[in-house]
Amino acid sequence: MHFFSSDFKLGILGGGQLGKMLLYETRKWDIYTQVMDPSHEAPCSIACNKFIQGDLMDFDTVYHFGSNVDILTIEIENVNVDALEKLEDEGIIVYPSSKTLRTIQNKATQKLFYVDHNIPTSPFSRFAYTSEIEDSIANGGMQLPFVWKSAQFGYDGQGVKIVRHLDDLKDLPNVECIAEEMVDFKNELAVIVARNSKGNVTTYPVVEMEFHPEANQVEYVICPARIDDSVANKATEVALKVSQHMEHVGLLAVELFQTQDDEILVNEVAPRPHNSGHYSIEASYTNQFEQHIRAILGLPLGNTSSKVAGVMVNLVGAEGHTGSVIYKNIEDILDMEGVTPHIYGKKQTRPFRKMGHVTIVDEDMSKARSKAQEVKEIIKVVSESYE
Ligand code: ADP
Repeated sequence: MHFFSSDFKLGILGGGQLGKMLLYETRKWDIYTQVMDPSHEAPCSIACNKFIQGDLMDFDTVYHFGSNVDILTIEIENVNVDALEKLEDEGIIVYPSSKTLRTIQNKATQKLFYVDHNIPTSPFSRFAYTSEIEDSIANGGMQLPFVWKSAQFGYDGQGVKIVRHLDDLKDLPNVECIAEEMVDFKNELAVIVARNSKGNVTTYPVVEMEFHPEANQVEYVICPARIDDSVANKATEVALKVSQHMEHVGLLAVELFQTQDDEILVNEVAPRPHNSGHYSIEASYTNQFEQHIRAILGLPLGNTSSKVAGVMVNLVGAEGHTGSVIYKNIEDILDMEGVTPHIYGKKQTRPFRKMGHVTIVDEDMSKARSKAQEVKEIIKVVSESYE
């Protein structure tokens, strides 16, 4: 198959920021793209060859979209998997496969996959409804505290809650869920594994993620993680094991906990480019988006090493600000050496909405990390009316 400046068509389900950054790479290589997203204002709409507005969870819509492309990929997991399966049966190449997506779309199924394949993960119980948890606690089947997770449609910490008291259960939706033992972790780490359709595999360096305590969203991603080599090696091995058993093609971002005893537990995975790999645009020889394209097209994988230390800061909407977005003080951070902002193209800001990110690179990791803190304090994502 010829991909470059040809009749080949790559379909992407989802038109958010991950898709937009994938499109920088397809444009670099003149690969024709077709993107579908429910919003006509999706960040991808300005950068693909053809944009289609449509419901990603609707069978017919996804099926028709997919029938018109040669290879289909995703930038969001919540898509209609039955349609992907039918497309696969009809010869369309779909990466990640419907099988991988089915496993990971439901957090209970995903956790069972780890158990079945002897992959270390925190113990959990599965419930058809949140309302069943209280009985389980009363019968001694569960103990407080635990981490409640909605089995489906959780995203960026929205479907996750630490339950410390019975009262905390009251505000939770009555849906299929899991209750996970709380991990007393030293660090949250992530490893991105790339596998191409020929079975070649590479891994990116282990990164460290620092979370915002309230929003449950990543605040800083630090590459390489400031951990011992032995821990980094163990994290990479566990990530490779998940990748091997999932037989995914494309990227697989594996989120991990490093426990107080330096054990590695898998939290969850995403079979696509991931927030924990954004630093790679500025810091790596091959960025994660180019690597995803290489992997799904069956091309040789690129070098995943870093050229320089990288820290990524997410730009999320400030609390109390809803409306047309303003990136306050952006000129001040543009004036700093090694600092590159990325603006996703969402016109409206909301508290904690992911609006962009900033990458800070430096030969010296400690300088990069302190500069990242400065960046975070300087730039603010606010709404026009509050200026
Ligand atoms: P999402 O799919 O919304 O990203 P995650 O499962 O990654 O949700 O959970 C979000 C965050 O909640 C994690 O990054 C971590 O900080 C915290 N968390 C999740 N599971 C546990 C756990 N078992 N123990 C302690 N903290 C957890």
